[in-house]
Amino acid sequence: MSSTRIDTETLRRLPKAVLHDHLDGGLRPATVVELAEAVGHTLPTTDPDELAAWYVEAANSGDLVRYIATFEHTLAVMQTREGLLRTAEEYVLDLAADGVVYGEVRYAPELNTRGGLTMREVVETVQEGLAAGRAKAAAAGTPVRVGTLLCGMRMFDRVREAADLAVAFRDAGVVGFDIAGAEDGFPPADHLDAFAHLRRENVPFTIHAGEAHGLPSIHQALQVCGAQRIGHGVRITDDIVDGKPGRLAGWVRDRRIALEMCPTSNLQTGAAISIAGHPVTALKDLGFRVTLNTDNRLVSGTTMTREMSLLVEQAGWTVEDLRTVTVNAVKSAFLPFDERNALLRDVVLPGYASAL
Ligand SMILES: [Zn+2]
Repeated sequence: MSSTRIDTETLRRLPKAVLHDHLDGGLRPATVVELAEAVGHTLPTTDPDELAAWYVEAANSGDLVRYIATFEHTLAVMQTREGLLRTAEEYVLDLAADGVVYGEVRYAPELNTRGGLTMREVVETVQEGLAAGRAKAAAAGTPVRVGTLLCGMRMFDRVREAADLAVAFRDAGVVGFDIAGAEDGFPPADHLDAFAHLRRENVPFTIHAGEAHGLPSIHQALQVCGAQRIGHGVRITDDIVDGKPGRLAGWVRDRRIALEMCPTSNLQTGAAISIAGHPVTALKDLGFRVTLNTDNRLVSGTTMTREMSLLVEQAGWTVEDLRTVTVNAVKSAFLPFDERNALLRDVVLPGYASAL
């Protein structure tokens, strides 16, 4: 199928898997407005359309630190049980509407404790909201599997606490761990204690690395901390010359380490300059295990369907390419092997077979 013939509805229907999507970056604008009113938080505007535009505009700063600052207005409405239940439920329904069949949602529970909830209560509440969303999506005939990644904020001191919760909730829907927040100046090895604990407990984790900072950050995440996947990792291209991977890039490709790539988000933070030139295409063509992700749907004004559409229109991707990155994501999901196989066999491959 030629790339120009893939219409948006076809893309929307393709089964998708997203490994890198932040709960607090994916709220519905109208929900932010309603919840903000309920808790007395002042927003830049109370018109949902204007608010959606404000997020994207504010996040288009070319700077990761300023991009992260926009989250103040989503986190403000995620400090109560009601706010967390609603945003978690809607999160799942929005994935279902986007054709996602497997999603890993991530968030840092330490950022939701300003209203008096403990980190443990935050995790329990989010799991409850996700379960409600899953039940509704299944009842509507669009079942979605959802796994949770708990994050620690790399610039604060509660990373180990979040890691302990990932271990505690491993049989209650939490499938892994991550560290988020400003990358520059906060290397992953600052949190070796947490990562060593997760390894001892056999809990898998990914690390945001190689987005704002380069190869040393990726190297440390993999070889010092022991990450099984890399969040973003766009700077791995610094270790590829004329299509030939150096030692670190070779390790990433040879070991089949998934790179959770988020093209639109990378344009906003300045980690990439165009969709056409985004490293995801070259890395895919070189056989790296690249995956396609949204990062923050509200803040980046995007969906999985839109990310796919951009690559089709601006980087010449075909349905086969979209299938490749979807299969990659399922293979590297933090799910048991038999469940990944079943998802591929019963859902993903039949979905692409009918589109090809
Ligand atoms: Zn992220």
